[in-house]
Amino acid sequence: MDNNKRIQYLQAMGVTVWLPQRNDNSGPKSDSGLNVAEKVETHSVLSTRALPDDLEQNENTFTVVGEEDWTDLARQVAECTACGLHATRKQTVFGTGSHSASWLVIGEAPGASEDQQGKPFVGRAGQLLTEMLRALGLSRDEVFIANMLKCRPPQNRDPRPVEVDACERFLRQQVEMLKPKIILAAGRVAAQNLLKTDAPLARLRGKVHRYQEIPVVVVYHPAYLLRSPLEKRKAWGDLLLAREAIERVGGG
Ligand code: URA
Repeated sequence: MDNNKRIQYLQAMGVTVWLPQRNDNSGPKSDSGLNVAEKVETHSVLSTRALPDDLEQNENTFTVVGEEDWTDLARQVAECTACGLHATRKQTVFGTGSHSASWLVIGEAPGASEDQQGKPFVGRAGQLLTEMLRALGLSRDEVFIANMLKCRPPQNRDPRPVEVDACERFLRQQVEMLKPKIILAAGRVAAQNLLKTDAPLARLRGKVHRYQEIPVVVVYHPAYLLRSPLEKRKAWGDLLLAREAIERVGGG
């Protein structure tokens, strides 16, 4: 993507981009004294080190997945009564996007707008997610976006383990059918449940994990970034790590 465009998208995300100039010490400084452009570059170098050496192209598997498989899975989700959330949902939220996407974004669970519209990430957090993807040169149509849970927990409470267990087979099947080259786990709840760990977000970010052999990069949840806009530059670093990881496995 052309650099000017990337800068425009970063600005739309709310990341202050300060282009370094020769002998220019007047720009906004972060706590570390680095300006934002320097920080992003620094993170990019660091994040290369965070990539495991064994990150290689996945073995190709030649299972043919047809549209009817997606339709069938969506129907199973729509009819699911495996946990108590079916009683309070307006509708299920299966996921949206390309069935041949290389990028899979996994959030936590539908909120009120998603429950209403039947699509993931359609509220304000969703708009920021769209900007984050655009900063990577991706449109929402090119990626696939889903959640750990397909039904809204009442009052947007955290998913319960029994709900995650009941719902995970759908996500696992989505991953098997999509075979993405990279997974972005958005936020602590998605990351911990996907990776089966209690580790805090701070320890999960900045590394490449695996789910079904697929590289997973943990990113801040866009709803958190709306509340903590100063973290957006770190979020850009996470996205760069994901891009480096997907390039390592021959995707883009
Ligand atoms: N937050 C999520 O984690 N998922 C959504 O779909 C919406 C908000």
